Amino acid sequence: MKKHVKQGVLEKQARQLLEDRGVKIDDIAELVYYLQSGYHQELSMDECRYNVNRVLTKREVQNAVITGIELDVLAEKKLLSEPLQETIATDESLYGVDEIIALSIVNVYGSIGLTNYGYIDKQKPGILKRLNDKSTGYVHTFLDDIVGAIAAAASSRLAHSSEVHEEIVD
Ligand code: MG
Repeated sequence: MKKHVKQGVLEKQARQLLEDRGVKIDDIAELVYYLQSGYHQELSMDECRYNVNRVLTKREVQNAVITGIELDVLAEKKLLSEPLQETIATDESLYGVDEIIALSIVNVYGSIGLTNYGYIDKQKPGILKRLNDKSTGYVHTFLDDIVGAIAAAASSRLAHSSEVHEEIVD
């Protein structure tokens, strides 16, 4: 039988990696607020934060975070083989695998996350602007899409939970 990594271990590592790479829960919650405040009257940062934390309990989200950040860090340390090293280090626009990994997060609460993800990826508000600044020396080729995707998924969750009972959502 295949051995599975314990859920708690993955969540702890995913949260630690986000923090190590300079992304706070509040940074992602702010993106959720940016996406949803126009649709929900009296939306609070607490509610945004809560939904981000719920998204981070999902195994597919944890795996996407861990995989993407690992590749970013390896590229930063120049430890990948060419031509992948150059592709990820320079965030080559035709690569596209970073977006594919992000989609496994976006779809956790259904396909309405896709619209939010596309929108936020174009606008690049808040933390996304910083992650896309290539002058810092960091490689965030995967992380920017992952953070946008978590915000998009949290927005979908928020939209669903305001329509149906909270407990049906996850
Ligand atoms: Mg990217």
